[in-house]
Amino acid sequence: MKVFEVEKLTFSIGRKKILDDVSFHVKKGEWLLIAGPNGAGKSTLIKIASGLWKKESGNIKIWGKELGEYSSKELARMMGILHSSFKPLYNISVLDFVRLGIYAKTGFLSFYSGRDKKDVELAIETTEIEPFLDKGILNLSQGELQRVRIAKVLAQNPRIIVFDEPLLHLDIKHKVWVLELLARLRASGKTVITVIHDFSMAFSYPDRFLLLKNGKITYTGDREKQDELVKAFEDTFEIRLTLKDDFLLPDKD
Ligand code: ADP
Ligand code: MG
Repeated sequence: MKVFEVEKLTFSIGRKKILDDVSFHVKKGEWLLIAGPNGAGKSTLIKIASGLWKKESGNIKIWGKELGEYSSKELARMMGILHSSFKPLYNISVLDFVRLGIYAKTGFLSFYSGRDKKDVELAIETTEIEPFLDKGILNLSQGELQRVRIAKVLAQNPRIIVFDEPLLHLDIKHKVWVLELLARLRASGKTVITVIHDFSMAFSYPDRFLLLKNGKITYTGDREKQDELVKAFEDTFEIRLTLKDDFLLPDKD
């Protein structure tokens, strides 16, 4: 079952093509890793595929239905999105911020149910952010804020998880922790789409790969043809790489 399907997606800003004929799909319970050099169009793809920005041409289908046919609440129930850039404006408490994940799918005037409370509690527990629940979000370190933002998405309890650079600002322990968390979520049946720069350490996790460069796909597929995949990473990033113990590492010479 294709959960997420993008066909011939094109998007320009002014005269510049930011995404050029991008097609791919993700099946239920799969983890897709999107990688590519800075400015490749990854975040743009996430913004368009999640309905935040309007596409120019092409199709985006979720569970077989056009993205535009879903209401924003329906989308929030289905998809939890972590965008790569975020600047908090108001100093609300961490707890209130995490609860916003619930309101995205139910609306602000809705009843905060026992089920919602459980989802929020589980998200807080999973991300280990209890120690700073009463703090304002402006008073957190960037790494702490990243975990709080992840908690907000988890509180939504979405079936599709879309994370743009979830490892950003995290120390190595928490980077591994996020990768393991995503692996657990996938094992529980969630579909996972992530943009990750640290593909060296993330290489063993995803089922499918999408490599982008200058708005064009340079590779899409699973890891079956591993040599082709590694070569595609090398070409896309213009760097020599070696696969060693499941880590895709840059060659020194
Ligand atoms: P990535 O996430 O792969 O690093 P982005 O999707 O953020 O890349 O950006 C892709 C391209 O689109 C870049 O060349 C960037 O400069 C350009 N771009 C992104 N947002 C804007 C914008 N609001 N106005 C003009 N150009 C933009
Ligand atoms: Mg980006």
